[in-house]
Amino acid sequence: MSDTYRNLIGGEWVDARSGATFTSVSPANHDDVVGDFPASGPADVDAAVEAARRAFPAWSLMPAPKRGEILFRVARLLAEHKEELSRLMTREMGKVLTEARGDVQEAIDVAYYMAGEGRRMFGQTVPSEMPDKFAMAIRRPIGVVGIITPWNFPVAIPGWKLFPALICGNTAVIKPASDTPACMVRFIELLAEGGIPDGVINVVTGSGGEVGNAIVEHPDVRVISFTGHTETGVEISTRAAKTLKRVSLELGGKNPIVVWEDADLDLVLDSVIWSAFGTSGQRCTAASRLLVHRSIHDEFVSRLRDRVGRLVLGDGLEDTTDVGPVINDRAVEKIASYAAIGRDEAELVIGGEPAREGALAKGSFFQPTIFANARGDARIAQEEIFGPVATVVPVDSWEQTVEIVNSVKYGLSSSLFTRDINLAFRSIRDFDTGLGYVNHGTIGAEAHLPFGGTKATGNGHREVGQAALDFFSEWKSVYIDYSGKLQRAQIDTTFVDEG
Ligand code: NAP
Repeated sequence: MSDTYRNLIGGEWVDARSGATFTSVSPANHDDVVGDFPASGPADVDAAVEAARRAFPAWSLMPAPKRGEILFRVARLLAEHKEELSRLMTREMGKVLTEARGDVQEAIDVAYYMAGEGRRMFGQTVPSEMPDKFAMAIRRPIGVVGIITPWNFPVAIPGWKLFPALICGNTAVIKPASDTPACMVRFIELLAEGGIPDGVINVVTGSGGEVGNAIVEHPDVRVISFTGHTETGVEISTRAAKTLKRVSLELGGKNPIVVWEDADLDLVLDSVIWSAFGTSGQRCTAASRLLVHRSIHDEFVSRLRDRVGRLVLGDGLEDTTDVGPVINDRAVEKIASYAAIGRDEAELVIGGEPAREGALAKGSFFQPTIFANARGDARIAQEEIFGPVATVVPVDSWEQTVEIVNSVKYGLSSSLFTRDINLAFRSIRDFDTGLGYVNHGTIGAEAHLPFGGTKATGNGHREVGQAALDFFSEWKSVYIDYSGKLQRAQIDTTFVDEG
């Protein structure tokens, strides 16, 4: 059964000004219409930004510990509704239920963590170089924040952007991906129910071209936080530059798991299945390159083929399903085009085709796929495919491994399996990625450490942890002179070496 959803603007649930709508369907079964949503445009964004602007003074003046108390309430409410939200996510986005629960849990974790930040939000106090003078730096809210999110973590990513933005005292306008608007709207309903005041969060559904651009170009939006494709990020960054917005971009990845000759292969196989085929390979941190020491390449590939051959494709709401659908038929086509490229570049071990048997024909499914004996510079080992496809690249030496790990344009996550402590530390030093794992796959980031990547994975900012506060607040340095006389910094002091 499909539902009708609305935008949230200034505390009111409203249709798009134009009255236009679009639908969201389940990727596991296209006959299952999840809901109808406002196909909004710039006029709706204007109204949402105006509501956020009006809500800003009261919210930003509320003491941060009080904002934190509201976030604690929100976290508890999300926990109470975790199962409902997870099931909605599996239906709308496709990831299997266990992973949907993890997605919601991530938002809950960030809500608790950022609620605590309401009582910390540490600044800096330093001794002044002058006598009788006090020096400190404090964090200040910035204003209206524009948030644009992808479909692959439809609750976690909105959570890890919104909660730090809110605890810092900002108000927000948020746009979900057009493939997962129901997850966003239900998530925001719970935030409103938890006590976030009217106008502090506003949701506008609609396309990137109409709603996304209007947010990015709006003169009253001071900050843009975006997660999605690198190409979209570049376009957003270019447009936002015209109004000198602060922009955080979290973009693509091509993440390697390196398997050294001394690795525990049972552990590696469990980790590869989870990292490469979890969320049908549609995680920004998915392991899509497996750099395997040549001495164990053939054994590894044969054991991996057995494991992958046993994976059950299906609706993520079924207990028996290991791998759910991909997001839509466009994604199936894109993955199929890479599978065709892969056949020319490497050896197809298993999979390689859309899956259309039986009930799968109603949805968007692709067979879990492995290519082996690929070169590090093959396109399937360099470009983000964003599907259940892993490419095995044999490696011979550590130097060659480091070169291949770093040869892609992205730098999000990397992982090394070895029992050699020296190599483990070298990987941390030498792999040019924002996340590094040892004896663990490429996924599994936690809410209290910075998240983000190097090179084309972003523009240098980090999400969650304390790092998120730096992005969502403005530093103000404050000097209080209690000497009662004019003291000129750098002039009325004597450098010790001068006598
Ligand atoms: P996408 O196509 O770039 O879309 C992301 C969001 O941007 C959607 O809400 C989209 O709206 C909107 N958008 C599209 N064009 C826009 C424009 N010109 N101006 C403003 N907004 C625009 O990405 P996706 O397919 O949703 O997500 C997959 C990508 O996200 C992958 O590359 C993945 O690696 C990356 N990702 C990165 C991270 C990270 O933290 N580094 C985490 C998760 C995902 P519509 O849906 O309406 O088009």
